[in-house]
Amino acid sequence: MTAATTQLIIVGAGPAGCSAALIAASVGMSSILVDPSPRPGGALWRIRHVTNVPGGWTDGPSYAEALQRDLSRISRTCQYLQDEAVKVEACEEEVTVALASGRSIRAEYLIIATGVRSMRATEATWVSTDLDFPPLWQITAESIREDLTVLGADRPLGTWLRSNPNFARKLTVLHPAADSYKADEIRADPRVELIPVREASVRRSELFEVEFTTLAGVPGRLSAAVVLANAGSTPAGLPGLVRGDDGYCPPDRQHPRVMTAGDLRSAGFQRIVTATGSGAEAALSVFYQSRELSR
Ligand SMILES: Cc1cc2nc3c(=O)[nH]c(=O)nc-3n(C[C@H](O)[C@H](O)[C@H](O)COP(=O)(O)OP(=O)(O)OC[C@H]3O[C@@H](n4cnc5c(N)ncnc54)[C@H](O)[C@@H]3O)c2cc1C
Repeated sequence: MTAATTQLIIVGAGPAGCSAALIAASVGMSSILVDPSPRPGGALWRIRHVTNVPGGWTDGPSYAEALQRDLSRISRTCQYLQDEAVKVEACEEEVTVALASGRSIRAEYLIIATGVRSMRATEATWVSTDLDFPPLWQITAESIREDLTVLGADRPLGTWLRSNPNFARKLTVLHPAADSYKADEIRADPRVELIPVREASVRRSELFEVEFTTLAGVPGRLSAAVVLANAGSTPAGLPGLVRGDDGYCPPDRQHPRVMTAGDLRSAGFQRIVTATGSGAEAALSVFYQSRELSR
């Protein structure tokens, strides 16, 4: 089944996708904004404290709610479609987005702003396991009564510890050398034991059995009741996009009818303001291209 066509499809309703929708509406373009979440805002909902967004915003959810109000204001030209894009295709005349619901939607242009997602432990090159562990950032401290073993020292660890000052259990954090500089911010936290490792493996028996080799080459093992993943993020690109060697989807390598915006573009520039700017720029690029105007 094919839904009605529109001028522009925007996939991902984080700051980049929402800005693209607002700018598209401001120049009179109709759009469909696709996101599996019932509420726009993307990663903003996970940011408890923010200091680098102009306008006096101090937390992500307040900013996300403001974006939601902005989208309500443009609901006549921008339709919010709660669905997940699974594949994109672009040809000379149009673009098609296949959705998880089985539908597909078509448009003249496409902006993809799907950001990044948490890397699974099975995707981390330094971890051997066939088990899938919940990401640390999704876990509430109140739901945990045991000590934790954490795979990776990526930034959400610091955010999680600061957000849960009363969590009194121990966190044993195994991490690769590449995470060492990120671990600096939590090195002094008495709840944390950092173990830099070359590699680690995890298997399930009664508890989780973790074996590892430290950076110094010393083998070690531990048993854990709870293992959580915190191994970093990976671009949430879709089949049909052109990816670089690092998995990111640079805007200048896509089909002329397809733009990428926000965190999906590259590992650098991953900030709210840059996402917002790139989404706006992508929408204006589409507008100029549709009018054959030079920029
Ligand atoms: C814990 C944390 C703290 C942060 N703190 C700050 C900070 O203080 N300051 C700062 O500037 N930045 C901060 N950031 C980074 C900032 O949140 C991101 O740079 C910004 O949100 C990127 O916006 P985006 O629109 O590109 O992606 P996102 O905000 O990640 O939004 C992507 C959207 O795409 C949707 N999506 C994904 N896949 C699909 C699909 N297949 N189909 C449809 N939709 C899909 C998702 O549901 C999501 O809504 C933080 C991030 C995190 C996680």
